[in-house]
Amino acid sequence: MTDLAVRSRAYTPSANVSQLKESATVAVSARAKALRASGRQVIDLGVGEPDFDTPAFIRRAAQRAIDAGATRYTAMEGILPLRQAIARDATELALAPNPWSDPADRPSAPVTEGQVVVSTGSKQSLFNACFVLFGAGDEVLVPTPSWTSYYEMIALARATAVPVLGEPERGLKVTAEQLAASATPRTRGVILNSPCNPTGAVYSGEELAAILELAAARDWWVISDEIYLQITYDAPAPSALQLARSRDRLVVVNGVAKSHAMTGWRIGWAISPPAVARAMTALQSHTTSNAAAVSQHAALAALTERDEAEVAVRAMVDRFRTRRDAAIAMLREAPGLRFVHPDGAFYLYLDVGQVPTADGDAGTAFARYVLDRHDVAVVPGSAFLTPRWVRLAYAAPDDQVAAGLSRVVAAYGDLVGAAG
Ligand code: PLP
Repeated sequence: MTDLAVRSRAYTPSANVSQLKESATVAVSARAKALRASGRQVIDLGVGEPDFDTPAFIRRAAQRAIDAGATRYTAMEGILPLRQAIARDATELALAPNPWSDPADRPSAPVTEGQVVVSTGSKQSLFNACFVLFGAGDEVLVPTPSWTSYYEMIALARATAVPVLGEPERGLKVTAEQLAASATPRTRGVILNSPCNPTGAVYSGEELAAILELAAARDWWVISDEIYLQITYDAPAPSALQLARSRDRLVVVNGVAKSHAMTGWRIGWAISPPAVARAMTALQSHTTSNAAAVSQHAALAALTERDEAEVAVRAMVDRFRTRRDAAIAMLREAPGLRFVHPDGAFYLYLDVGQVPTADGDAGTAFARYVLDRHDVAVVPGSAFLTPRWVRLAYAAPDDQVAAGLSRVVAAYGDLVGAAG
């Protein structure tokens, strides 16, 4: 990650951004693109973006919406039918029977559209939530490794991110006990992400419930980033909406980018108590205003044309599952290469800590080697505060995932074999 604080004569970063790091995932992708432009056949397993086209029924709905005049400002918090559809889905999820918790232990009230704010991608929803909930002097627990932007968003809110490291034996997930041990009187919240980027690990109902109990007992805010909730392979992933005894201090973030192959449309949302929703709407009204009108209509189709959506999402998840299974089979053949078993999302997290390095950052050394010598882009674990690991995304065509992974395994053999 590059620190913006590298000054030039023409520009001294303001205090707001002097600590801000450029996204390492974007940096890897940019380097892969540059190598490609120079004629190299680079396989990009760096970027976390589904390789599928947005389903046709969603594209058609967007075209119809443009022709019907969805070209103007909308309500800051998003168009009413979209917020209603989001609230309906959230209510169904929260109130339906589930294997993890008794309905008597959960709120029985429906989620309402007044609790929903639609934003320009779930990234903006997460930023809004961090900005309106946390401030100077606050500490926010971040189970680590985690998506790189949480740390930066918390810092932009002038709060302090407190990484809490998961154990490899538990798929790098953290326990309620570990979070409790990292808490101080200044702790104000925790950001959860299951299924997890970068590991693909999924918190069980029990694990998640224990964390939610702890947060409730300490009066912490919980931001639950559930952007990969629909992308699971062996069993459904529990949502905080299904487990929380109260939603008074809960913000659930989701979107259509990953599940519906809609990254470029930029639609995400947050479900929160109404007062928080109002604060996020006010923040958004002074920054970006509404998310793009046509994209909101596309997301509306994704949520309301349910039969078509179900078929499309299932087809994509099936493709991811096939790739994941093939990848796991290959990794099991690689001697000594440890990885987190991926139950969801579309990432593989590999432990390359045995790769010899001068500075202890094995992930970066490995990522550099595999890109320069084997033409495969992967993301070094230092981007997720765990430098002995690297992240691969299997959101690329099947043949590229297979070819890329076999080169990664070969590179590991080169480096660790050479060391041993
Ligand atoms: N949350 C996580 C864990 C992600 O991995 C990403 C994207 O990579 C996002 C949020 C942002 O998604 P969106 O495209 O909806 O802004």
